[in-house]
Amino acid sequence: MDYREVQSINLARLLKEGGTAGASGVVRDAFFAGEERFPLQGEAHWKVSVTSVGEGEFWLSGEVEGVALMECRRCLKPTPVPVHAYFQHMLHYRQGAEGVEFHEETEEEYYIFGEPDLDLSGFLAEAFITEMPYTALCDENCRGLCPVCGADRNLVDCGHEAEEHHPLRALKGLLPEL
Ligand SMILES: [Zn+2]
Ligand SMILES: [Zn+2]
Repeated sequence: MDYREVQSINLARLLKEGGTAGASGVVRDAFFAGEERFPLQGEAHWKVSVTSVGEGEFWLSGEVEGVALMECRRCLKPTPVPVHAYFQHMLHYRQGAEGVEFHEETEEEYYIFGEPDLDLSGFLAEAFITEMPYTALCDENCRGLCPVCGADRNLVDCGHEAEEHHPLRALKGLLPEL
């Protein structure tokens, strides 16, 4: 397999001759949305195909598959969550346009790009992150963190009552002994 770390596809031939082009690759470590980082376990794999539909218009379709590492909502442990996302977008080529820009008109949504080398990173990150669940659980039976002392109750029995819940006490438990 000819995997590349570059997340782009070159459409120079399609711009001249039409037809279809394909590309595939991997994303390592994490996806990013602005400053926010969405860590991965191992590599995420992607593949796309782009088809010329005439008049500088292209149809992009692809998929991205990987394992997101999300914090367990009870014990905060990094928890692997398999994600497989599909996406389809209409693209318009405008020579000289910078980057990849989203446009919306009545009944039509599309992206404008101006370089034959189309950057896919935004499409891949958006599809993957959108497909992620809002929260994760390391295990259906995860016992979470003790609200009193902050201990991971999956690992230790700190002896505190599960019902005993007071935010200030939980905070106190997290501070080091003076
Ligand atoms: Zn957990
Ligand atoms: Zn405790």
